[in-house]
Amino acid sequence: MTDFIDFHLHPPVEALLHGPLAPFLDGLRDVVPRPVEVEAIGDIAQWYRDHDAKAVLLGWHGGAGSPTAPLDGRRIGQLVAAAPDVFKGFGTADPSLGAAAVGAIHEIARLGLDGLSFHPAAQRIEASHRSMEPLWETAAEHDLVCVIHSGGTRLGAGRLGGSGIMLAPARPVHVDTVAAEFPDLRIVLAHTGQLWLDEALEVVRHKANVWLDISGQHPASMSRVLRDAVAGELSRRTLFGSDYPFASTPLEWIAAWNELGMPESVTRQVLHDNAAGLLGWD
Ligand SMILES: [Zn+2]
Repeated sequence: MTDFIDFHLHPPVEALLHGPLAPFLDGLRDVVPRPVEVEAIGDIAQWYRDHDAKAVLLGWHGGAGSPTAPLDGRRIGQLVAAAPDVFKGFGTADPSLGAAAVGAIHEIARLGLDGLSFHPAAQRIEASHRSMEPLWETAAEHDLVCVIHSGGTRLGAGRLGGSGIMLAPARPVHVDTVAAEFPDLRIVLAHTGQLWLDEALEVVRHKANVWLDISGQHPASMSRVLRDAVAGELSRRTLFGSDYPFASTPLEWIAAWNELGMPESVTRQVLHDNAAGLLGWD
């Protein structure tokens, strides 16, 4: 039986670290507590296999005017194909393209991927922006689950002007608008909103088509408000994610989680059952 499903893995492959994240890599190395290095997809897959675990590989698009190629659906599809027993994949599209991005989303569905991933701060566009409506509509049409990052980001952190990255597009309330306008779209709000934690929790409470991904939150620093929500009313819509390689390893995170004394049923739901149910992944 699968021990855990990591819903938030940014595969540290060449096409990501030396692709859309290349402009941020030096800065990330200053704020991430471990070396961020390229790893072989086969080694990553074997790590999850050895731990009876599975992972969702997230694509990445640098957004409008990005000088680098995205880690797009086609590339994510190739990574998943290397180990379909342990990986599912989420593609991505340029959110600034509006209706012109729809073809990429049809392609992601055709490739058999399970969702899409967006990073509103890095992409400098809020999820509720009118130009994104065709993307949400097409994602809902194919029942693609959409991961939307929220809250702060390590990208540009500690740099002058945060390397030009603004946090406001990553407010959870923008996701609330999308969830209301596309009630058939299943959305994963990543990172718990962080500085907008209360806002994120309220969005997930209010919208049954939104799940909470607690990646980016180390269990030791979780507030009482977050722990109570996860153990209580949101226990069936909370998902574990490691955010590797930019945060703890999955095992470090789970060891810290186990120190919280959560009921075993909640741990099973958060680490496995909720993700398995959301993706139909046994
Ligand atoms: Zn992420």
